[in-house]
Amino acid sequence: MDLLHDLKGAEVAKAICASLQDKISQLKETGIVPTLAIVRVGNREDDIAYEQGAIKRFNNNGARVLQVALQESCTQEELEKVVMNINKTKEIHGMLLMRPLPKHLNENRIKGMLDLRKDVDCMTYLGQAGLFMGEKAVFTPCTAQAVIEIIDHYGIDVTGKKVTVIGRSQVVGKPLAVMLINKNATVTVCHTKTVNLPEECRNADIIIAAAGRAKMVDDTFVKPGQIIIDVGINMVDGKLCGDVDYDKVSPIVTAITPVPGGVGAVTTSVLLKHTVISAAR
Ligand code: NAD
Repeated sequence: MDLLHDLKGAEVAKAICASLQDKISQLKETGIVPTLAIVRVGNREDDIAYEQGAIKRFNNNGARVLQVALQESCTQEELEKVVMNINKTKEIHGMLLMRPLPKHLNENRIKGMLDLRKDVDCMTYLGQAGLFMGEKAVFTPCTAQAVIEIIDHYGIDVTGKKVTVIGRSQVVGKPLAVMLINKNATVTVCHTKTVNLPEECRNADIIIAAAGRAKMVDDTFVKPGQIIIDVGINMVDGKLCGDVDYDKVSPIVTAITPVPGGVGAVTTSVLLKHTVISAAR
């Protein structure tokens, strides 16, 4: 690998979309358009931005997104009715629920309700159990899968490598740790109670930052030869930045994903991939 190398997400996303074209054309011949329902409660800016990105990605690749926007004040019953309808509608192949939900709504009930076959972001209990068991048929969470797609695309072999994951959330850190173990990495998971985070990071071959803390990984966390994957998306003074201080870290390490233009650029193409697979099934 080059001495300093940006792991660009756009290249990975393009390769994923290209690999889906034959399957999408075959489905089209049988009258099937891969369709994802995005369910949003309220009008959070970042949810809407993500939704717009997904719509563009799907439309440009012969698939479609069905937007379901509910009022911030909607009831549990209204939300559940939407999910039941999605379960029943055979023209819809996947559902993405924008989270977190407003506090008055019970996300756990939805986790037990969505049809596993349409769980393209691994939010259900069954999906997560399947992931934990290494069951190949379940869809992995899109963001964690985007990290794996980047690793695979750039030919990074994690077998036997020490990988430090910062963050243990249900959506990113935990599933990613399991997925990396399944790829034969030696994984250390760090969190807010980790005693010496910089040391845990310096000990690694690969650092994956998913803490949601702007630029917390600086030059004291890294050493030459490492690969850095930055999942963080933070806004500082109106500018997007990751959990890694790119300017301080990039001159030291072998490879790094930029923010923006890294992991975030890949997630919607993973969502498309999962929806296409679901439609084909
Ligand atoms: P979260 O807040 O649910 O979890 C953050 C995790 O990081 C927690 O487990 C916490 O223990 C750990 N953490 C927080 N501060 C820490 C610190 N100072 N030291 C050590 N550990 C710390 O967040 P999340 O949903 O897992 O998302 C993480 C980041 O990834 C956020 O910036 C989010 O915006 C971003 N994200 C990106 C994408 C994408 O497509 N790139 C998708 C989802 C989330």
